[in-house]
Amino acid sequence: MTTVSRVPDLRTDIGDVLITEEQIRAKVRELGAQVSRDYEGRSVTLVSVLKGSLPFMADLMRAIEIPVQIDLMEVSSYGGATTESSGLVRILKDLSSTIAGKDVLIVEDIIDTGLTLNYLLRYLRGKGPNSLRICALLDKPARRLVEIPIDYTGFVIPDEFVVGYGLDFGEFYRNLPFIGVLRRELYEPR
Ligand code: 5GP
Repeated sequence: MTTVSRVPDLRTDIGDVLITEEQIRAKVRELGAQVSRDYEGRSVTLVSVLKGSLPFMADLMRAIEIPVQIDLMEVSSYGGATTESSGLVRILKDLSSTIAGKDVLIVEDIIDTGLTLNYLLRYLRGKGPNSLRICALLDKPARRLVEIPIDYTGFVIPDEFVVGYGLDFGEFYRNLPFIGVLRRELYEPR
């Protein structure tokens, strides 16, 4: 786990606001409407990946107007005090219900290298859902190592380390209502 040796300053640690609260709200509404249309006449099971996807999941489920069930998984993708993906994926919390025969939509905060999702896709496919799609709030394609078929994308972002709206650095900054770029000097050795 990343440790931060100082108490973060939520205001001055952010370089730029990349996506405002209003932009997120509008996009989530749009995604919810799209999902409601695509799955009309059915129900959808949202599987979210803790902890970063928590605000997105909470907002998206309320923007969907068809019957929804939810489940939560937790995986670790980053090892140590780093902003780089380790490629190692460990399941910390598994699904609590079966998804066999269900229409499953994975709700992810951000797809970076794609290693986490690649692993999860294979894992969830093995559980026999009727369908399996991906909804990602943020897509950072610059560092992709494996191709991921993203069905619903919120925003495509540049290769910056972002925090807020669930995304952390050292477990902090998740409560920011917007998505911002963390100042580089906070995680890069000088
Ligand atoms: P991937 O396996 O696609 O490289 O990484 C997926 C996970 O890495 C995300 O769910 C998220 O936890 C973390 N991650 C990737 N990029 C960022 C970023 O810019 N900021 C933060 N806070 N986490 C990131």
